[in-house]
Amino acid sequence: MSAPAIDQSTVVQERRLVTALPGPRSVELMARKQAAVAAGVGTTMPVFAARAAGGIVVDVDGNHLIDLGSGIAVTTVGNSAPRVVAAVQQQVADFTHTCFMITPYESYVAVAEALNRLTPGDHEKRTALFNSGAEAVENAVKIARTATGRPAVAVFDHAYHGRTNLTMAMTAKVMPYKHRFGPFASEVYRAPLSYPFRDGLDGATAAARALDLLEKQVGADNLAALVIEPIQGEGGFIEPAPGFLPALAAWCRTNGVVFVADEVQTGFARTGDLFACDREGVVPDLVVSAKGIAGGLPLSAVTGRAELMDAAHAGGLGGTYGGNPLACAAALAAIETIEADGLVQRARDVEHLLLTRLRALQESDPRIGDVRGRGAMIAVELVRAGGTDPDPDLARRVAAAAHAEGVIVLTCGTYGNVLRFLPPLAISDALLDEAFDVVERAFAASPPTAG
Ligand SMILES: *Cc1c(COP(=O)(O)O)cnc(C)c1O
Repeated sequence: MSAPAIDQSTVVQERRLVTALPGPRSVELMARKQAAVAAGVGTTMPVFAARAAGGIVVDVDGNHLIDLGSGIAVTTVGNSAPRVVAAVQQQVADFTHTCFMITPYESYVAVAEALNRLTPGDHEKRTALFNSGAEAVENAVKIARTATGRPAVAVFDHAYHGRTNLTMAMTAKVMPYKHRFGPFASEVYRAPLSYPFRDGLDGATAAARALDLLEKQVGADNLAALVIEPIQGEGGFIEPAPGFLPALAAWCRTNGVVFVADEVQTGFARTGDLFACDREGVVPDLVVSAKGIAGGLPLSAVTGRAELMDAAHAGGLGGTYGGNPLACAAALAAIETIEADGLVQRARDVEHLLLTRLRALQESDPRIGDVRGRGAMIAVELVRAGGTDPDPDLARRVAAAAHAEGVIVLTCGTYGNVLRFLPPLAISDALLDEAFDVVERAFAASPPTAG
């Protein structure tokens, strides 16, 4: 593919505020949003985007914001990454849709081949493509159930797997994801996670605790799948203690339970490995990917052992748009970008920069209880100074102060007390440093939470 035609330099890579945030055009658009869009669809910032590239999002008033969110870990290769733009422009002119289940096309097969090559393990694999993370998680459960003939699914405390009915049942946090949206799908059982900051357990002990509960309350013979995020996303960027994931995977292997890694947020170089499971050499039976897979186009996938993936009858898996040709072209270009630009290493460099900055900040601010995460998936958990009581109010105020200064940061966590940083890997070190100067000032300007 030839060099991109778009001029990335038109999105100047600097933070620049030309109005107070939100600016007048954004205020106008927000009023239209409130009149036209369902209230249930919230926004983190009341600022409307016009363009984005590298580490910058430009709003409709011309403000240049530093992007530490990547649209929730999606634009890992950068927004409108040059190879993605070129590939999609070519594809949109060739054809936009035929439905892979009617008249298939090569790019879907090529994405499947790439995922079979890139996901953990060198066993024989197959892939199926879908549109959203939640849809792929649902399909992983369908595949595990039909392959095992068992009904139950094990998930974990703090888990996030999506907003469809089955994935709401699998998601832990009631507000905002589940509140008043039940009844939920049955046969979903929740086990305790390894959460080193809060439980102090080593990986083996935490795994034994979870597996004991599953054996006593569900029974291995009834379990089709155990579904886990190798580092939890919405739940608070919780990285289990070393040994936790390998112990769960080994138990699954012994008991014929399908080990499903939900790598929707952690996949595609985000954590400084191509997949987060690679770090401890864990080989899942099924891997679910989405978010970072296609540079911003909607695509998701289930990849796994051929004998499991081939268990479903023909016609049992699919969907009208699954593996849309534009999304497949984008995914191939995103994968090429990750490999050609060395983005796995780039994520490790970002990790070093972020952890250095945040650990220094933690030294001087005891409200930062924990600094954790890997690659370009780093978080701080905020607590009442001197203890571990969650401080969601501080997280909200620090995020608001950073937003006002033109830095896009997100919060997460069961207790709402986690600030998470998910920069695109196309961001420069200079922008990262400036963003964390802003974050540092936001902490300094936020007095202790009252009460
Ligand atoms: C975002 C996310 C999902 C859901 O993906 P959607 O595309 O929003 O449906 C599932 N699992 C994890 C770990 C996620 O981060």
